[in-house]
Parts: sequence; C-alpha cells; structure tokens
Amino acid sequence: MKRINLWAPWRIGYIKGLAEKRDCFICDNVKNPVSDSDNLVLWRTGLSLVMLNKFPYNNGHLLIAPIQHVFGLDELNDSQMLEITKLIVASQKVLNLTVKPHGFNVGFNFGRCAGAGLPGHLHLHIVPRWDGDTNFMDVCAGTDVISQGMKDLYNQFKTASAQNNLPGL
Ligand SMILES: [Zn+2]
Repeated sequence: MKRINLWAPWRIGYIKGLAEKRDCFICDNVKNPVSDSDNLVLWRTGLSLVMLNKFPYNNGHLLIAPIQHVFGLDELNDSQMLEITKLIVASQKVLNLTVKPHGFNVGFNFGRCAGAGLPGHLHLHIVPRWDGDTNFMDVCAGTDVISQGMKDLYNQFKTASAQNNLPGL
C-alpha cells in the first residue's frame, strides 16, 4: 500500500510549543501560586514573575519572565516590555537593600547555543556581582549550603520587599 504523508507544516509551531511547555518550569511556577515559596517566586506582577534562579551563576541571581510562554521580545506588547524594564529596577533595588552587590550583569540568552537553559520561555537574568567573585561557583556549586542559603536569601528578599513596597508596580 502506498503511504501518504500528510503535509501540515503549520503544525510544527504547535507541536514544538507543546513539547517546550511540558517541561517549562516558568509556566509551572505561573500555574502554582501556592508553591511560590518552594519555587522561590519572589514577585507576581500583572504580566510577569520574578524568581530566584535555582541554578544561580552567583548568590542572588534573579529571573524576570513574562507569564506568557513566548520565545522572543518581538512577541511581547508594550505593557509587558515596560513592566519587565521596571522589574529590572526593582530587582536591583531589592539586591542593593540586601546583598549589596558591587555591580550587575543583566541580560537575555536566546537559544541553547547562547546559553539558554530554558530556550522556550523568555526570561531576563539579573546577576549580582562583587569584586573578585569569579571563583564563587567553583567553591560552592552543588553543595547543600547553596540550597539552604537560597531559602534564607528568598526570605531576606521578601522582608526587604515588604518594608520597601517592592516591586511597587
Ligand atoms: Zn513557559
């Protein structure tokens, strides 16, 4: 019997979307507000989430993401872009109030080749930096000290947020 292939290229976006969504921790976090403390979700604003990165490059590494599962900045509307930008300011403020970094790296990674661990869901990294911190991860990566430290850090951020009306959007 002759095989007939269905040609339906418009489905590839949908299929890819399903595959990516199933394993998307940001979407999981969006759907589970009761687990915010376990998931280290710091703030929920109208259009975005701010959370601690569970695999931090540095102590206090935050992620800002739209609640919508989108890949690119071109898929955001003006309100979402404005809110994410304001959340950068609020994130730097909460870090300055608590862990007092000497500097920050702020940026997006688009695609796995660019270092994105979760390429399907747009997110912005806020990485606090200190003079001479480059060896931090070599010393602490993968130890239990980090996970305990992250919960303490989360609680510090929560307290500072409440005291300073952050994110204040
Ligand atoms: Zn997602």
